Amino acid sequence: MTTEPAHAPVERHGYRARPTPRHHEKAALAAIAQALSTGAREHHVAVPGGTFTARSYGPRHWRVAVHRPTGQRVALAVLHGDQAAASAARTVAEVIRRAPTGFADGARPTYDLVSVGENMVMRRNRAYRSLRADGTVRAAVPGAQLIIRPSVLDATTTRGGIRLTLDGPWGYREAAAVADAVLRDLAPEARHLTYTTGGGRYYYNESGSRCYDSSSWAHCSCDWHYPGSDQSDARWTAKWHRQHPDAYRTPEEAYAPQRTI
Ligand SMILES: [Zn+2]
Repeated sequence: MTTEPAHAPVERHGYRARPTPRHHEKAALAAIAQALSTGAREHHVAVPGGTFTARSYGPRHWRVAVHRPTGQRVALAVLHGDQAAASAARTVAEVIRRAPTGFADGARPTYDLVSVGENMVMRRNRAYRSLRADGTVRAAVPGAQLIIRPSVLDATTTRGGIRLTLDGPWGYREAAAVADAVLRDLAPEARHLTYTTGGGRYYYNESGSRCYDSSSWAHCSCDWHYPGSDQSDARWTAKWHRQHPDAYRTPEEAYAPQRTI
C-alpha cells in the first residue's frame, strides 16, 4: 500500500537521500595506499560488486581500474597530485553502484554532456549552463572544477585531481551522480553550498482567480532540499542545514502517514 502525503510537512528538517555506503571502498583504498607506499607496483582488492586494480606510476600518480566481478572494466580513475594520497572513496563507491552491467565490449557512454551537467547537484548555480566553446561542459564549486567530456570526467583543483574514464553505456543520471561524488571528494568545503529559489509569484487558480504564492525552496549541494513557506523560512532553514549538515530525514521518513488525532 502506498500512502500519498496529505500536505507538505512543515518541520524544519528537509529531505536528503541517504549517502551511498562506502566503508568497503574506504578500506580498499587504504589497503591500496598501504601496498603502493611500501613499494608494490600493483595491488588488487575485491569489494562487493567489483574489484580495484591499482598501479603506481610514481608517488603522486596512481591509476585505479574498476572491474565488475565478470571482468568487464567500467571505469579507470587516474589520481594525480596531492589527490593521489587522499581518499577517493565516494567516487569509486558511486562508480560501483551506478555502473552499467552486462554490456557488449567496446560500448561507449550514451550521455549528453549538457544533461550530465544539469543533473549534478554539486554546482555553484544550477540554472547556469556552462557549455564551453569546444562543446564540453564545465561544472564548478569553490575549490574544484570538473570538465565533462564524452566518456571522460576530468576534475581538478590547484593541487591535483581525478580523471575518470567511463567504459560501457553510461547514462546521464549515472554519470551525474559519479561527477557529484568526484567533486565532493576533491572539494570537501563545498559539500554544503545552499541556495534558495525566489519566493513570491502570482498564478491563476482553477477558478481563474489571481493568487499569490510565497513558497520558496532551499537546496543544498549535498542534495538536501526543503520547501519553505516563504523565502525567509527557506533561508533560515538553509542556514540551519549548514550548521547541522548531518541532521536530515529521508523522503520515505518525511512522507510517513500522519497520525490522526
Ligand atoms: Zn547540505
